[in-house]
Amino acid sequence: MDKIISSQQQYGLIGFPVKHSFSGFMHNAAFSALKMDASYELFEVKPEELKGFLSTLAQKNIYGLNVTIPHKEKVIEFLDKQSFEVREIGTANTIRVTGEGKLEGFNTDYSGFCRHIEELRIHIHKVALLGAGGAAKAIAVAIALAVAGKGKIELAIYDIDRERSFALAQRLTLMKPGCIAYAVDKIEDLKIKDKDILINATPIGMEEEDPCLVKEEMLHQNLFVYDLIYNPPQTKLLTLAKNRGLRWSNGLMMLLYQGALAFKLWTQREAPEKIMLEALQKEVKKWSNL
Ligand code: NAP
Repeated sequence: MDKIISSQQQYGLIGFPVKHSFSGFMHNAAFSALKMDASYELFEVKPEELKGFLSTLAQKNIYGLNVTIPHKEKVIEFLDKQSFEVREIGTANTIRVTGEGKLEGFNTDYSGFCRHIEELRIHIHKVALLGAGGAAKAIAVAIALAVAGKGKIELAIYDIDRERSFALAQRLTLMKPGCIAYAVDKIEDLKIKDKDILINATPIGMEEEDPCLVKEEMLHQNLFVYDLIYNPPQTKLLTLAKNRGLRWSNGLMMLLYQGALAFKLWTQREAPEKIMLEALQKEVKKWSNL
């Protein structure tokens, strides 16, 4: 008997490990709302399996992928085409598979962050950034090239991995004339009191036992606090900001906007954002009540 090959379009996330992702909830809700025969799955792909996995996407009926740790940089060598953002940042978090089986790379974290910041109407010229990993790079480049416009930018970066923060600061300085980017050795040296916005792009805050990386006395009344974490919806850092009466945001809208853009890139259809947001909120609520 002939094997029945499913015509269902496959999408998904590759990483190792791939737990902690909410992307499947929003994309599967979107496929279902638009009555598309498509599904989003989590693919656990070890570093040594990456090349083999990417070479068999057509056989697996895979049309699009999100990419997470540890593959965001490594995938670039397998791409046939890279967006401007991917070239500038050096990481891709979204891949589109074309009809000819070619792989095109994008960084929708960049665009998702830009869109949300624009919507929040935050004045960003002086930034304190916690983290220099995949998401932090996308955000720092977005601030340097898009969010701050023609204005001067000062970006202070702290990461537990000193080399990573120094490398990011150097990249930003070379990328944009007028961008003063520097790495610091301790959080106190970020001089948050002198900044417009504090951004947490580390995973610290995801676990209940995680500390709050900054102390209350480091903050000031006009500071905006943006935490990329969306689960839990209010980290200790955001609770601190809220209790001090500061403006703040978690990473849920950035997650939605980067996902909506990926959806459009993959399917050429407008993403049903309201439905995707509801799916995300439902999951966040479920997890918070555990
Ligand atoms: P990543 O590539 O692992 O980067 C995190 C960076 O933070 C690493 O360089 C890590 O260093 C550093 N770090 C860890 N603990 C630290 C500490 N105590 N102080 C200073 N730096 C520390 O992770 P990512 O992909 O950028 O993700 C970071 C966070 O952003 C995660 O919580 C993720 O869920 C979130 N995120 C949200 C969105 C969204 O759409 N809202 C999108 C992307 C990411 P080590 O590697 O040495 O630990």
